[in-house]
Amino acid sequence: MKRLMTASSLIIAVDGPAASGKGTLSRRLAQYYGLAYLDTGVLYRGVGWLMLTQNLDPRDEEQAAMTAQAFTLAAVADADIRTPDVGRAASLVAAQPQVRAALLAYQRDFAANPPGGVRGAVLDGRDIGTVICPDALVKFFITASPEERARRRYKDHRAKDASITLDTTLEDIKRRDARDGGRETAPMRAAEDAELIDTTTLDADAVFARACRYIDKSLKVEDA
Ligand code: C5P
Repeated sequence: MKRLMTASSLIIAVDGPAASGKGTLSRRLAQYYGLAYLDTGVLYRGVGWLMLTQNLDPRDEEQAAMTAQAFTLAAVADADIRTPDVGRAASLVAAQPQVRAALLAYQRDFAANPPGGVRGAVLDGRDIGTVICPDALVKFFITASPEERARRRYKDHRAKDASITLDTTLEDIKRRDARDGGRETAPMRAAEDAELIDTTTLDADAVFARACRYIDKSLKVEDA
């Protein structure tokens, strides 16, 4: 683990589309810099999963708002939320302002008071650098071509579900990009001060090395 020399708390915001590599990067950064980690997609997936298991339509704004307001991570601790259906439901509930408002305080509180007494946190999602933590010291926007992201997702999911094809995965990714990027509330987009990393032709080690170089440079500036 690397020791950081700055006195202030270190928040790293990592945004980007599905299967861009942001989760892998965020976990590694948290471990390396000794920070807490929050995958904010789990919150939206959790609400989506609860809606589906109660046979509720994820588009039903009233029910989705109530589900998000009562949401706890413990309620979905053992749930299989990493499925295409839950991803789709997550993206539908995530477009609703009341759902986002209900999940906002938890994310901000996690960043301000990271568990474990550590000195900061890495949060990954779609709107961390723009809405949740606009003052984050370091911001990344991680992306890759839709085709490459579909290949990665397909590789992860095909063992679990034989009905999945590369084509349907690509369609799903494109539909989700359009919904997440086109919604009115907190659309997915890079913050103006985010460092962009395109991972299409990079492996996880190369992405991590690039991100660390950028963080170390940002921290030196902060220290000066
Ligand atoms: O990152 P992940 O694929 O798990 O996120 C699932 C969905 O949750 C995304 O497609 C997006 O609609 C939503 N989401 C969001 N804002 C976040 C994190 C996830 O809108 N900060």
